[in-house]
Amino acid sequence: MRVTPQSRWRLTLPRLAVAIAASLVLVAGVYLAALRQGGIDELARGQRQLQLMAPELESALVKFETLPYVVGFQDEVAQLLEHPGDQARSARLNRVFQAIARQANIGAIYLMDRHGDTLAASNFDLPLTFLGKNFGFRPYFRQALAGHAGRFYGIGSTTSEPGYFISQPVRQDGRIVGVIAVKILLDEFERNWAGSDDAIVLADRAGVVFLANRPDWKYRSLGPVSADAQRDIAGTRQYAHLPIMPLAGELAPHASRQVGTLGWQLQLFPSRQRVARNAALWAGGAALLLASVATAGWALHQRRRRLDERRMAAQDLEIKLAERTAQLRATQNDLVQAGKLAMLGQMAAGVTHELNQPLAAIRAFADNARTYLERGRADKAAENLGHIGDASARMGAIISQLKGFARKSDTLDSVDLARSMQASIFLLQGELKRLDIALTIDAGTHPLLVAGDAVRIEQVFINLLRNAIDAVEEAAEPARRSVAVTLAVEGPMALVRIADSGAGLAGESAAHLFEPFYTTKPSGKGLGLGLAISSSIIQAMNGQLTGSNRAEGGAVFEVRIPLQTFKQGQS
Ligand code: ADP
Repeated sequence: MRVTPQSRWRLTLPRLAVAIAASLVLVAGVYLAALRQGGIDELARGQRQLQLMAPELESALVKFETLPYVVGFQDEVAQLLEHPGDQARSARLNRVFQAIARQANIGAIYLMDRHGDTLAASNFDLPLTFLGKNFGFRPYFRQALAGHAGRFYGIGSTTSEPGYFISQPVRQDGRIVGVIAVKILLDEFERNWAGSDDAIVLADRAGVVFLANRPDWKYRSLGPVSADAQRDIAGTRQYAHLPIMPLAGELAPHASRQVGTLGWQLQLFPSRQRVARNAALWAGGAALLLASVATAGWALHQRRRRLDERRMAAQDLEIKLAERTAQLRATQNDLVQAGKLAMLGQMAAGVTHELNQPLAAIRAFADNARTYLERGRADKAAENLGHIGDASARMGAIISQLKGFARKSDTLDSVDLARSMQASIFLLQGELKRLDIALTIDAGTHPLLVAGDAVRIEQVFINLLRNAIDAVEEAAEPARRSVAVTLAVEGPMALVRIADSGAGLAGESAAHLFEPFYTTKPSGKGLGLGLAISSSIIQAMNGQLTGSNRAEGGAVFEVRIPLQTFKQGQS
């Protein structure tokens, strides 16, 4: 079957556009899915991280819960509360507090009387000391004064430094006489979080962020702050006088965990850039995979196309070959025809000569016959008329031999050479018998089929057999008159060999055998056209006619014709 380029899948512009669009959709899909899954994974990871972070923070908050309580039992504390104006006692307690603060690594520890005035403070020697300041407005003071432990986070009203305040009442005989407070700095946590890609914040009960690794998030609220909460914040000066503004925009999904006893929320907002980067990696991977699949497909397609092209080229070559063969045949036919015509020209001279002879004779016999008739010699006239008959018969023979010569043979039948040979021998039967010639025939076992015209092949065989008969009649003893015919296969050719026991080819005749009008036979017997015509017939069948002498004497003529090969589609 002939392969056409149309029968294969072809890459067209619309198909390319569709493929590119589909690839883009796929890559975008992968990106979005990775973004979604990445967000979920990041949240889970954030939640796990918070689980680790929260206890650390909580332990920092509770670590100093008991410190103000224990310090409240010191004698110096009770004495100073009894004598608030005693400078020496105040100075001594200041030093004790300073030592404790340094030892415990806390922001400050200080003692207030029942009004909130600070009597002693660890930061007594700093410019922004608590000493002498009143913290009566701070919730942790009020809580302690009410007999509870106080806890509070806020920006220091003196130092402006944020901190976590823990307070305990100081009792004397069951009465609350003062309050001891401890300020813990949490900025170390902030510093720890600074290295993280994620936003980590600690927000109070009202949603106000007071610790964050994003400076611009600090003292902003995660959501709207209620009016009550606003009032509370202002009253306790929790965040000094900073206005609390909600964070702009919708807050991203985040992990969240409760910390401590004040309703604080530790929150982690996974880095969107990291999620996007991961999603982009996935999308890039998908794009790479698609590209490699496309490249492989393209290579396969190209390979197939090359194979198709090669196959088509082979088919084209086959077709061209067939065309060229047909052309060659036609050319060959034309050449044979041209050769024949050339030969005809050559022959015209010979024919004119050949025919002129009997024609001149006929004229002479006719003149004679008329003269004899005028003289009343009817017998002599009849004799001359007989000669005229003979001469015209001879002319007829010449003409009949020439008849088939110039005709172009178009008929191509399947001819069995053995049968043609039998038919030819049959026609010469009488002559063979008369001259007592022993004819042997070895026809082999297989039919020898060739493509050609049976009548013309028989014409060749008859010519060759007649030459052989002439040769043995002239030369051989009657007992040694023999002609041997062999039919055989020789490679792709059928071989017909006609050997005789005659005198063989005379010295120079071998070179001129196939020339028209070459003959060694007496005038009237041979015309010298037999072998020329036979050779041209065999050549027209792509065959060959040769003649030679046999080692044991006599001549042998060999005809070679291509055997017919049966191909599909040919008859
Ligand atoms: P013709 O038979 O009319 O002479 P051909 O062309 O058939 O013309 O033969 C040409 C010549 O070739 C013959 O005259 C003869 O000399 C020679 N020839 C042909 N066949 C034989 C043969 N079998 N043995 C000897 N000579 C031959």
